[in-house]
Amino acid sequence: MRLNEIWRSNYITNMGRQHDELEKTLKTYLNVNNLLLFNNGTTALILGLKALDLKGEVITTPFTFPATLEALDWCGLKPVFCDIDKNTLNIDIKKIEKKINKNTTAILAVHVFGNPCEVYEIDEIAKKYNLKVIYDGAHIFGSTFDKRSLGSFGDMTMFSFHATKIFHTVEGGALAFKDDVYAKKLKMLRNFGISDSGEILLSGINAKLNEIQAAIGLEVLKMFDLEKNKRLIIKKIYEDNLKDIDGIKFYTDKSSSQQYFVVGIDEKDFGISRDFLYEKLKKYNIYTKKYFSPLCSTFNWYSDLETAKKENLLVANKVVNEVIALPFYGDLNEDEIKRSVI
Ligand SMILES: *Cc1c(COP(=O)(O)O)cnc(C)c1O
Repeated sequence: MRLNEIWRSNYITNMGRQHDELEKTLKTYLNVNNLLLFNNGTTALILGLKALDLKGEVITTPFTFPATLEALDWCGLKPVFCDIDKNTLNIDIKKIEKKINKNTTAILAVHVFGNPCEVYEIDEIAKKYNLKVIYDGAHIFGSTFDKRSLGSFGDMTMFSFHATKIFHTVEGGALAFKDDVYAKKLKMLRNFGISDSGEILLSGINAKLNEIQAAIGLEVLKMFDLEKNKRLIIKKIYEDNLKDIDGIKFYTDKSSSQQYFVVGIDEKDFGISRDFLYEKLKKYNIYTKKYFSPLCSTFNWYSDLETAKKENLLVANKVVNEVIALPFYGDLNEDEIKRSVI
């Protein structure tokens, strides 16, 4: 239907009807002040950092997908790694202040596996030191915190709509932001810096989401609630079957978007290592993921960063060898789940 509409309209990209409808729909759905679409989450994050006009150093986490760090690199910002909390796997707020110096301009935190960061505490630190706060919210579609949309905290939040995410547009992303002043700038940045009147005012890039992707998003959105509810049932089956086993820890909060179901394997108590389990499950055609391994602090181009050193990131370096994301999608049936866990 929508594809026919697009075909008949002769308008297949450059902020068309499907695009604008998805933008408006998601702004309401995610309950945020402003929302703009991009061609993927990574460009959304890069342009968000650019719109905030940051310089110098940004405090961030090593336990994330490479894109978080690569966005900083593309903006010429120096990452300052801060260790993570062993229970939430998010940036450890107790360790942030020690990393702040006169060059620090922002905190880039990640709501890992959709579990909310300590947003109020991060806000407080940012206020005290006059820093911007930007969240990689690639995993938080539809998540709330303290009865508010999780994407409404901080100055900006990036969403990824990659095909592997619970809501997706095949490839795509969005930025949610509080302050209207960024809207004009971000619209130009995603479209070669072209202003409404056709002048080129900024050095932008091509980061537009096309009509076909937007149409897919509008259709996928209709399935989101059902998919999430199915996953909540699957999560319960996993937990009921795994909870009495020593050495397994659950990381997927009930309030999260249910994008991943992640457990931690403590080799000593569980009896075998995460890596052994990963290989063993593979033999039974059960494919799991070692999210997020390797740590971003181990990338070779950060090898001379003091904050990337292992001794400064003890929790992250331990956790990265323990976590494993189990198969998690709505159509997984109970027998298949039991096959994974028994
Ligand atoms: C998927 C993901 C990204 C990248 O998003 P894309 O839309 O694929 O560019 C960034 N950060 C995290 C944490 C992700 O999981």
